[in-house]
Amino acid sequence: MVKFYLKIFATLDAVTDVEPVDTPESPYEYTFTIQCTKCRTTHDKSVNINRFESHEISGSRGEASFVFRCKECKAEHSAAITRTAQKLTAEDKKPVPILEIDARGLDFESFIPEGKFQAVGLESGTKFEEVDLEDNEWYDYDDKAGAEVSITDVTWEISRA
Ligand SMILES: [Zn+2]
Repeated sequence: MVKFYLKIFATLDAVTDVEPVDTPESPYEYTFTIQCTKCRTTHDKSVNINRFESHEISGSRGEASFVFRCKECKAEHSAAITRTAQKLTAEDKKPVPILEIDARGLDFESFIPEGKFQAVGLESGTKFEEVDLEDNEWYDYDDKAGAEVSITDVTWEISRA
């Protein structure tokens, strides 16, 4: 089993506590490109992993958030994901791990931020719940603070623990 962390970093202007909207009512679909470590084939489509779902691993080997059979070598692989307790805050100076991935037979190559994120106004406490980071930047206006807010230069990193 190999452990990976998905990390986020960005320039925050007047906002803090950036995190995925990821609750049982509104689960986040984490989208990745993956590679089979047995035959080293990168799967041609991205995959979605939801931490509230569980799928059976064949041969009664338990359950995982994600089960995948490689089209090339036919090996079955799986991964379990756990949300860390961390958020990207205004004080952070380096990438923050937001997701822990325990993978069997899979390399996680890249993350595609397709779902919704949330953030909080730094001084105002205003909640922003429709933060879209797909273009690696987001701009809004904080009515309570009477100022523009933004998240820019968003970078994603997947690293081995
Ligand atoms: Zn394979």
